[in-house]
Amino acid sequence: MKAPDFNYEKPTSISDVLALLANDELDCQLLAGGQSLMPMMNFRMANPGTLVDISGVSELAGITECTDTIEIGAMVRYCELEQSTIIKTHCPLINLVLPYVAHAAIRNRGTIGGSIGLSDPAAELPAVLLALDGSIEVTSGNGVRLEPASSFFKGVYETACEPDELITKIILPKAHSQQKFGFHEVARRHGDYAMAGVCIAQDSDLSIRVAFFGVADKAIRATNVEKLLSGSASFSQDVIKDAQNATSEIEFEGDMNASPEAKQHIANVVLERALKGMK
Ligand SMILES: Cc1cc2nc3c(=O)[nH]c(=O)nc-3n(C[C@H](O)[C@H](O)[C@H](O)COP(=O)(O)OP(=O)(O)OC[C@H]3O[C@@H](n4cnc5c(N)ncnc54)[C@H](O)[C@@H]3O)c2cc1C
Repeated sequence: MKAPDFNYEKPTSISDVLALLANDELDCQLLAGGQSLMPMMNFRMANPGTLVDISGVSELAGITECTDTIEIGAMVRYCELEQSTIIKTHCPLINLVLPYVAHAAIRNRGTIGGSIGLSDPAAELPAVLLALDGSIEVTSGNGVRLEPASSFFKGVYETACEPDELITKIILPKAHSQQKFGFHEVARRHGDYAMAGVCIAQDSDLSIRVAFFGVADKAIRATNVEKLLSGSASFSQDVIKDAQNATSEIEFEGDMNASPEAKQHIANVVLERALKGMK
């Protein structure tokens, strides 16, 4: 199938994007890498009146190292993240995860802003942001606000970004040398969306954040699991078993890949493997 008719705009500044978004009559939707939106339009799951292509907005480009944080422009593509020495040095969890995000051809076009703006429950990067306690800079005609990742993802394809707002940056704390990270996912084929996966970040005080994806209506932190794991420098089989029992706090949701029960089983498998592979 082909997409229904739409108007096309390609602004070159954030202020021009915001002016288009503020006009309700245009029924705008942002187009970033198009790797999800174009298939959704072809399948008639999305039917915007006007596509606002933000690929020409240079203010949304680039990865910047700040004193304590890394700022990633919304239009930064996965392939740029993969090649960035700033990301390699200061956000090692992103580097662990990226080879599992879709396929190389999709990573050449897909963007971090598109992934965060879409909020697919099985996508890796929303869980990375939760595990790293990152935040999202959102801009509208009313100004700029910072939304913590913990309150940004609302449900399937639903976020705290309003229709007249634009994600402009992703802000992540720089990793410290004593921090450890873990990641594991299970997918039917490498590059497919995960059946279930987990991202873990452990701080130098041994507090820990555990974020699952592919198990519920959005990427979620498992706070009971975190409580059980916090304070452990290494994870014995008993601690892992207790943590696996605590995943019952999650309201597992089935999808075309697996039932809720199978999701819980896979979540426990990826949790154990990620904990054992922490580095
Ligand atoms: C075969 C296939 C396999 C895939 N596998 C995976 C996978 O394993 N893991 C994974 O995470 N993804 C996967 N994807 C999705 C891919 O990562 C997409 O590129 C990504 O989800 C969306 O990024 P995009 O830049 O293409 O966004 P687009 O498709 O252009 O946009 C996606 C949505 O985000 C909104 N949006 C875009 N930019 C902004 C912004 N700056 N502010 C607010 N809203 C914005 C758009 O309006 C749209 O609703 C897969 C896609 C395909 C086709």
